[in-house]
Amino acid sequence: DVAAPVALGIVAVAEPGATIIPCAGGLPDDLFQHDGQLTKREIRAVTLSTLAPRGHELLWDIGAGSGSIGIEWLLAARSNRAIGIEARPDRLATARANAEALGVPHFDLRLGQAPDALTALPPPDAVFIGGGASRPGVMETVWQALPAGGRLVVNAVTLETEALLIDWHGRHGGELLRLAVERASPVGGLTAWRAAMPVVQWSVRK
Ligand code: SAH
Repeated sequence: DVAAPVALGIVAVAEPGATIIPCAGGLPDDLFQHDGQLTKREIRAVTLSTLAPRGHELLWDIGAGSGSIGIEWLLAARSNRAIGIEARPDRLATARANAEALGVPHFDLRLGQAPDALTALPPPDAVFIGGGASRPGVMETVWQALPAGGRLVVNAVTLETEALLIDWHGRHGGELLRLAVERASPVGGLTAWRAAMPVVQWSVRK
């Protein structure tokens, strides 16, 4: 049983063991089905905060993966819309299942490869690129589609995409951020910090 955010008022009487969905962005990772390709909670919270959903807006979630960014964008405001583009059918199916389970079945998830899959889409208010940024034409197509004042957030884990983001930051400004998260975890009966891959994030308003 999943308690929707709007039901938070009755959480105090929820069944013990019932899944509770917090109101704050950055939902726990285990609320999503995924195969490891998931923007993890801490990075997702910062990403959502930077995307800055505020109602009546359209997000493109490119490389939607398990769908977590688009899903949280839609949870932030009922009037928001989101289109997710994902290249792998298995992940698209997972993203659809997550959207249903978390109460945002209107997440418009489409199978396709950026940049080709972007050409006929309605213009976005904000764009998140979580996969495919290094593919030729993706950054250019997104930049062209973005209206003046539109927000773009791109997350990179590879050096190749990082280099691309440094170049775009040099030409268009905005903010470059490097996010590194470490979690205490068991090591031979004791405890040590285990580092996740650092994420470089470029965000900009056009
Ligand atoms: N933000 C996602 C994780 C993204 S992982 C989440 O939280 O679940 C990156 C995803 O981008 C992968 O699923 C990969 O299949 C997809 N991808 C990579 N290149 C792409 C492209 N050119 N077009 C669409 N999807 C792409």
